[in-house]
Amino acid sequence: MTCIKCKKEFEFKSSIEYKCPECKGLLWFKPKLDSIKEKFPLKKIVNNIWDYKFAFPPISSGFHITRGEGGTPCLASKKFGRKLGIEYLYFKDESQNPTNSFKDRCAALLISHARSWDFKKVICASNGNQGASVAAYTSTEGIGCLNIIPEKIDVGKKAQMIAYNSDLKLVGDTVDDAIDFILKQKELTEYYQCTPELNPLTLEAEKTIAYEMISQIGKIDLVIIPMGSGQLLVSLWKGFNELKDANVISTIPKLVGVQSQVSSPIVNGFLEFKGYNPTNNETHNSLALGILVKKPIYKELAIRCIKESKGTVIAVPENLILSSIDELIRNEGIFAEPASALTFGAIRLLLQKNIFEDHEKIVCLITASGLKAPYVLEAISSQTKTTGKGSIIITKLKILSQISLSSIKGITGTRIKETMESISLAAIYQHLKELETRELISRIKEGKKVLYFITDSGKKVLDALDVLITLL
Ligand SMILES: [Zn+2]
Repeated sequence: MTCIKCKKEFEFKSSIEYKCPECKGLLWFKPKLDSIKEKFPLKKIVNNIWDYKFAFPPISSGFHITRGEGGTPCLASKKFGRKLGIEYLYFKDESQNPTNSFKDRCAALLISHARSWDFKKVICASNGNQGASVAAYTSTEGIGCLNIIPEKIDVGKKAQMIAYNSDLKLVGDTVDDAIDFILKQKELTEYYQCTPELNPLTLEAEKTIAYEMISQIGKIDLVIIPMGSGQLLVSLWKGFNELKDANVISTIPKLVGVQSQVSSPIVNGFLEFKGYNPTNNETHNSLALGILVKKPIYKELAIRCIKESKGTVIAVPENLILSSIDELIRNEGIFAEPASALTFGAIRLLLQKNIFEDHEKIVCLITASGLKAPYVLEAISSQTKTTGKGSIIITKLKILSQISLSSIKGITGTRIKETMESISLAAIYQHLKELETRELISRIKEGKKVLYFITDSGKKVLDALDVLITLL
């Protein structure tokens, strides 16, 4: 293990240290580049993360635990890319892991490490996915599991922890409080540490997503990644960088980090660094609970990785979550959790900001399944249940969302129609008329085109509607 700050090297041991004992810099595992060079590229079908053991810290093969994690598809876009005129768009679908999130990769590696050192108990502070995975992977190994979770957590993830027989302790509001709680405990020596931010093996497990994408689709130009602690983005950077150092790829993809507009500490940090004004409406009231982190441990490092990759950041409006989940299902057949809906929602925004270059190969990372978030389930069930007012409100919400997305340039009725398949152009104009009467939108005539813009009261209604819709 190498300290990323003072570069001092330490032996890989049983007690997982995540910070350098001397300078408190983050610790980092350095794999042997020769073995990466020799064993990569892999065959395109990956059995599980142990196919990448040549790039992991040494763990005795008798302890390699797997539930078939990894090897998830990297799917070429079926419809959405073509609609937007993006030539090469892919979705890396991590919802297809055993407990429906990318965190199964981490659980496989961490629990194997815990087993190899004969730990009988593990502890994990997380905002859900990691906790659910760790609970699943300990359940068959005869290892006890204690999950420290915050109040704000997707019920589906909590239910997974309980179903897999984990003990739960509720601490604080967000995952920051849960991590603080663990850091303050003095006597945890009998527990193996599974908190992602406090175990550097998490980076090793998550970097396999980068390895896999390269073996699946070859050279990649840009990857869109949701950011909570920033660790996933750093892991991907590490993976791509190792492949570059081993001469497997010649350049690393531009990394684009995505957060919600109401909780975007890393986005703001990056903007400040670039000399722009950060967004200042951080209420942390995001529905993307999987990436709701107030003080991300990997913030500085994530900013450095984005910068080095020549990537960028984007904060996506909270009110796009539902419509993005819906659009992703309709176009690609992928059911994503709110955090990943943000990465999907970011595609259109990035396109409007001219971030993509011609012929670029772009991958949007889908981290986990929408089945874990009750908010999503309620909203979707309400769509079929209510044929009357409910669906009318949802259609208006979608139209308002589309107009709000193109707030500066404005949008025509025909453009809105392109994003909404199930509704006629005439119906769209009827909705536009009604929205205009209520002064939620305004219009400007530009030659033959009529462009629609959202008003301030339109923005307020949009935010409120997105929350209210779950009550229909
Ligand atoms: Zn150090």
